[in-house]
Amino acid sequence: MSVVDTSHPAVRSLFGLAVGDAFGAQILMPGDHPAVLERRLPPTPWNWTDDTEMACSVYSTLARYGHIEQDALATSFAAHLDPDRGYGSAAERMLLRYRKGESWREVAPAMFGGTGSWGNGAAMRVAPLGAWYGPDVDAVVTEAAKSAVVTHSHPEGVAGAVAVAVAAAIAATAPGIPPGEFLQAVASRVPESEVRRGIHAALDLLHTDDPRDAGQRLGTGHRTSAPDTVPLAMWLAARNLGSYEEALWTAARVASDLDTVCAITGGIIAAGPGSASVPPAWLQACERLPEWVAG
Ligand SMILES: [Mg+2]
Repeated sequence: MSVVDTSHPAVRSLFGLAVGDAFGAQILMPGDHPAVLERRLPPTPWNWTDDTEMACSVYSTLARYGHIEQDALATSFAAHLDPDRGYGSAAERMLLRYRKGESWREVAPAMFGGTGSWGNGAAMRVAPLGAWYGPDVDAVVTEAAKSAVVTHSHPEGVAGAVAVAVAAAIAATAPGIPPGEFLQAVASRVPESEVRRGIHAALDLLHTDDPRDAGQRLGTGHRTSAPDTVPLAMWLAARNLGSYEEALWTAARVASDLDTVCAITGGIIAAGPGSASVPPAWLQACERLPEWVAG
């Protein structure tokens, strides 16, 4: 992978997100398949997907402007859209409209008959933003919401992004925080929503060792919605804040939208220091980040 300053929590988080995304995308048979249970690393190279492509736009917008400049973010999403990266069909159509000059302010709220999208796409790309602002949690919440509504204006889509960004901020600034405190701290900053109820459900399941139990209660990403994806990622992150590998192999046993669950979980955990970091062999396996991310 290309290297920028890996001592910055936001960069660590971006790498953690990209490697998680790429790892998840290579696991063709998740669940209790022998390759997963025996933790055999997939063949290389691991190519990343839309999660990473969009996260690079979030990161580069922050690096360039120091905050989420929404028009620039929408332009970057559209300019860098690569249809071979696994975008959902609605997301791809939306970004193509932006590319033709339509405004996100009109297109995004009109999606899905006027509800806006509550997909997991705003959550999947936002962890580095949480790590960027770190201790300034008010800024984390505000800027995460601003980054979300460029494509996901439904309150659940926004809540998912806020939850993930706050989680990454806590991972970056409070290493060693107990799992229960971590989830409570995240939930306290998430607006009332299905996403928040799911995080409270994850809190109740912290002592469940079987990831399939957690998946049954919290959702597995099967519907690719924020409420069906973010609570499981929170459960995985909370239980494994010090171990990136353990979190992602556990995800592989249960998650449906595996690249996105691993992108979210990996982006949160890798924001933390030291033992939370991405294993060197995994970094080596992953496709390089695009040159344009560094600005
Ligand atoms: Mg993807």
